[in-house]
Amino acid sequence: MTAVSMAAVQVPDLRDFTLSELTEWIGGFGEPPYRARQIFRWLWKRQIHSISEMTDLPRAFREALVARARLSPLSVVGVQSSRDGTGKLLLRLSDGEEIEAVLIPEARRLTACISSQAGCAMGCRFCLTATMGLHRNLRPAEIAGQVLALASTLAPGEHITHIVLMGMGEPLANYAATEKALQILTAKTGLGFSPRRITVSTVGLVPGIRRLARSDLGVNLAVSLTATTDEVRNDLIPINDRYPLSELLRACREFPLPPRRRMTFEYVLMAGVNDHVEDAHRLVKLLKGIRCKVNLIPLNEAPEIPFHRSSRQRTEAFQKILERAGTIGTIRESRGQDISAACGMLATADRSLDTARSVPYTPECGVEQFGSSLGS
Ligand code: SF4
Repeated sequence: MTAVSMAAVQVPDLRDFTLSELTEWIGGFGEPPYRARQIFRWLWKRQIHSISEMTDLPRAFREALVARARLSPLSVVGVQSSRDGTGKLLLRLSDGEEIEAVLIPEARRLTACISSQAGCAMGCRFCLTATMGLHRNLRPAEIAGQVLALASTLAPGEHITHIVLMGMGEPLANYAATEKALQILTAKTGLGFSPRRITVSTVGLVPGIRRLARSDLGVNLAVSLTATTDEVRNDLIPINDRYPLSELLRACREFPLPPRRRMTFEYVLMAGVNDHVEDAHRLVKLLKGIRCKVNLIPLNEAPEIPFHRSSRQRTEAFQKILERAGTIGTIRESRGQDISAACGMLATADRSLDTARSVPYTPECGVEQFGSSLGS
C-alpha cells in the first residue's frame, strides 16, 4: 500500500462522528465547539459532498480538514419504483459493497427503511437477505447516510417522516454503529428526527435489546417473533437457539416504554408452519402484559425460500383470534413486492434494477424522482 492510500484509509470520515465526537475531535485542532455545529450542519442539513464546500470555515481550518478527514460517498447505482409507489435504491459503498434502502409512502407517512449491514449473518429461513451471508457491518455514516440518499430522490416539499431499521442486516448485531447513527439522525443540529419516529427492528438479540433499553435513545423497538414455540422458532430463526422465547420476551417486558407507546411484534405468516389457530392463542398468551401491537406479514415468496404465504382466510382468522383476546393485530399489506423491496426481500444479488448508473447522492446530481422515470 502506498503512503497516500494508507493516509486515505486512516483519516476519519466526518459523517461517522456524532456531534459530541466531532466537537472533541476538532478540539484537537484548537477549534471551539461552535465549529463542530457548523460542520455538522454542512454534513447533515446542507448535505454537501466535499469538505471544500464548507465555505464559512476559515480557509486554514478547511485545508486542515481536507488533509485529515474525508467524506466517503454513497453512490446511487440503481433506482427502482414499484406500482404502489414504493421506491428502492441500490447504493454502492466506498469499498464496492452494495446495500439497499427503500422508501415507502403511506397515507400521511413517508418511511425510509434502511440497512445496518451489507448482508446478514442471522440466517433466518424466510428472508432473502440471509442467502447473501454477512459481507460486513456498516459504519454510522453509511447507515445514517442512506436517509440522505433517499431524501435526495424526493420532489420539493416531500419529506421523510419515519425511519425504520428493517433493511438488510440485524441492527443490534452492529450495535455501536447503529447507536451512533441514531444519535446522528436525532441530533437537532442535523436532521433532527424525533426518536418517536424511528424504529429499530431486531430478530431477537437479547443483549442488544438490553443495551438499547439502557441507552437514552428513546427509539421504538420492533421484534420479529414469527413463531410461538422454541421448536418452530429455532428452525426459522437460528439465533433463537441462543436466546429462546422466554429470555427474549423477558427482555421485551423489561424494555422501557414511554406512555402511549407500544412495542411492535412482527409475525411473518407461513402456510402450515406458524399460522395455526393454536399459534394465535399461544401468541396472545406469550404477549400478555406487554403493551404492544402485532404486525401480521404475509410471507413474500421467492424461489430461494422454502415456504409459502398463508392464505388470506387463515391470515384473517389469525387476526380475529388476536382481536378477540384484546391484542392489536394488523395485517400489513405487502409493499414494493414487484421490485423485491418488500419485507425480507432485500438482497443485492438481485441485479434486476433497471436504472443502473453511478452518481453521488446529493440532490444537485440529478437523481430522477421515484415515479417520474420508473413508475409504472
Ligand atoms: S430477517 Fe433480518 S435478521 Fe433475519 S436474516 Fe433477514 S435481515 Fe437478517
